[in-house]
Amino acid sequence: MQFRAPRGTHDVLPADAPARERIASVARVTAAAAGYRAFEPPTFEQADLFVRGVGDGTDIVEKEMYIFEDRGGERLALRPEGTASVCRAYVEHGLANAPQPVKLFYVLPIFRYERPQAGRYRQHTQFGLEAIGVRDPALDAEVISVGWRIMQELGLRDLTLLFNSIGDGEDRRAYVPRLRAHFEPQLDSLCGDCRGRFHRAPLRLLDCKQECCRSFQEGAPLIGDHLRPESREFADAVRAHLSALGIPVREAPTLVRGLDYYTHTVFEIVPARAGSQVTLLAGGRYDGLIEAIGGKPTPGIGFGMGIERMANDLRAQKLAPEEEAGPAALVVALGEAAGPRATSLAAELRAAGVSATMAFGGRSLKAQLRHAHRTGARVALILGERELAAGVVQVRDLSGSEQREVALAEVVGELSGLVS
Ligand code: ATP
Ligand code: MG
Repeated sequence: MQFRAPRGTHDVLPADAPARERIASVARVTAAAAGYRAFEPPTFEQADLFVRGVGDGTDIVEKEMYIFEDRGGERLALRPEGTASVCRAYVEHGLANAPQPVKLFYVLPIFRYERPQAGRYRQHTQFGLEAIGVRDPALDAEVISVGWRIMQELGLRDLTLLFNSIGDGEDRRAYVPRLRAHFEPQLDSLCGDCRGRFHRAPLRLLDCKQECCRSFQEGAPLIGDHLRPESREFADAVRAHLSALGIPVREAPTLVRGLDYYTHTVFEIVPARAGSQVTLLAGGRYDGLIEAIGGKPTPGIGFGMGIERMANDLRAQKLAPEEEAGPAALVVALGEAAGPRATSLAAELRAAGVSATMAFGGRSLKAQLRHAHRTGARVALILGERELAAGVVQVRDLSGSEQREVALAEVVGELSGLVS
């Protein structure tokens, strides 16, 4: 029997790591520059947090959560998104007493039982940002601008910011009956998911990617045409801030989030050659969420960005950083007696800032030098019994094959600064 990583999951091998690390570090630095600070919740939570905080009518809660009972009989779920945990922590730790808005970012593994395909996995990693406690269109624009800036910093071009306002509960009281009236005659022709959405999350009827439902989306009434003046003004104010930031906005009148606690601003960043699997970043305002999980009514806005989809895009656009080379120095011990001194020499080099390791396995000099070339080492330090007795070491430059003898006492000083 051969074990494999579970379906829809993958190992991050060293060759994959630099792109991911670059994305995460650019995202952290960009968020920190706007005053966001690191946050990390546990990997699992009470399942009900997500049922209430993501919502019954969502794909996530209906069919994607990894739910389990622990040995104490508690119903838990692996985190299927980050926002609910941040909001839970905001309430639990009384962060309403801190200066508002509370601005946090996270880089977290996310678990969803999805049908695996390109860019869609059962475990992925999200960089996310949340700003909680203030309802201000300038904050919406700031959140969006951090996401946009991360893309620019990484060199990703030809992106589109999709933007819509879905108003609030009051706007939707007038709108939803009209939306239902549009879809009701076709109810039997809609996909199974949409028949459920019709009752629980009607806005998401506009969002279905199934062929059978798409044709009915055309001509459906749009939420944007049903906003009250104050909701329209809020959206226009966000647009004005985005315009001042020089961020191009593409209006997306059918872009939605399904649940009552998502309000006003919704947005996505997609590559210009957009298909359904390629949304890089998605977010919105959730002024009703904290109340839905048991806190006082508190506004909030945030986004999540898929690190794997970003890494795929960086690779496709040849923007992914190279895999890092191995240690600069390889210490080769010839004969057992030289071994311990070689070990300490490698450690001294590292302590002096020169990346170094040993050639392990007691192979021949030729085999060890071949290994040094393959791992990208720049110098080999060869220490045999004769060298040990004379207090010297052979330093071989691996870019040519020049070799010289250097006193053991001086070799670390000589190499530090030259190689790192
Ligand atoms: P979709 O409509 O593609 O299912 P979603 O609405 O479920 O997206 P969000 O919950 O908003 O996505 O997640 C934010 C971001 O996380 C997405 O834009 C995407 O980049 C990434 N993402 C979401 N689900 C997956 C997944 N299964 N595999 C890889 N990345 C994902
Ligand atoms: Mg999804």
